[in-house]
Amino acid sequence: MLQDIKPHVFHGEYAIKKPADKDIMILQKGNKILLIMEAEHSSERMKGMLGKTSSASYSLPTAAQIRTLCPESVREAFYLFSVDEQGYYSSPVVPEVPEDAAVSWQSVMVLRESENDHHAFGGAVGWQLASWYNLHRFCGQCGSRTVHGENERSIVCPECGHIYYPRISPVVIIAITDGDRILLTRYNRNGYRRHALVAGFVEVGETLEDAVRREVMEEVGLKVKNIRYIESQPWPFSSSLISGFSAEADGETTVHLNTDGGEELAEAVWVDRDELEIEDSSVSLTWDMIRKFRDKTL
Ligand SMILES: [Zn+2]
Repeated sequence: MLQDIKPHVFHGEYAIKKPADKDIMILQKGNKILLIMEAEHSSERMKGMLGKTSSASYSLPTAAQIRTLCPESVREAFYLFSVDEQGYYSSPVVPEVPEDAAVSWQSVMVLRESENDHHAFGGAVGWQLASWYNLHRFCGQCGSRTVHGENERSIVCPECGHIYYPRISPVVIIAITDGDRILLTRYNRNGYRRHALVAGFVEVGETLEDAVRREVMEEVGLKVKNIRYIESQPWPFSSSLISGFSAEADGETTVHLNTDGGEELAEAVWVDRDELEIEDSSVSLTWDMIRKFRDKTL
C-alpha cells in the first residue's frame, strides 16, 4: 500500500530545523504540488500507471533546486518529517514558476498512481501537512496571525491561546461478502473509474461500526453482520485515516443503489472470488482487501 515503503523508514517526530541542499521541499497550492516532471515514454513501469494524468514520471524538488528559483522560500522553510536521512520541508513562501522552469504545478493525485515509491508517500504526506499549515495561518477564533508550536506539531494563536492540531478525517471502507462473493462498486464521481468498495466518512458522534452499518445501508441498502476490523491506511489526499472492515450480508442480498446526493454509486455488483480481476496497483487499502478476499486471507 501507499505507506508500505520498506526498507525506507518514515520518521514523523516533530522537530524545528532548516533544510540542507539535498532535502526535499514540498510546496503546496490548493490540490497542487510543485514537482519536477520528466518525460519517460520508454519506461514500461510507468506506462499505463499514470493513465490520463501524464505520460511522464516525476521527482520531488530539493532545497538546492528551489533556492535557484526563490531563495526566500528556502530561507523561510520549516521541517515536516524525514524519510530515512532525507528531510522534508515546506515553506509559506511559494515561488513564482516561470514557463521554462524545471518544476511545475501538478495535481497531487499524480503521486496516487505511483507504486511502491517512498517519494510518493513522502510527497503526499508532505502535501497534506503543508495544506494544513497553509490553511491555519490565521486563528479561526480571533483572526490573529498564528505561529508554529515549539514542542509538538501544533499551530498556536499568540493572542487567544487556541492550539490547532493536524486534522485527520476517519473513513471506513467495507468489504461486504456473501459466501464466495464480494460486493464491488463503482462511483459516479470524476476521476477514479475502477471498481471500489463501499466507503464513506465517519460522522460526528458515530463509532466506526456505526459508520460501517450506516454507509452500507445508505449506499447499497443491505444489512450487515459480523463486522470485523482488517487493516488501516493513512490517506493523505483527503487527510484521512482509513479503517478497512469486512462484513457479511445479513439476510437479503439484493442491492438497492442509493441515487440521492452527489457521490452516488453508478453500480454495485456481486463478483465471485474465482472471477475477481485485480484492476489497480497496490497503493490502496481497497485493492489490498479485494486481493485478500481473492486469496482467502481476508
Ligand atoms: Zn486566536
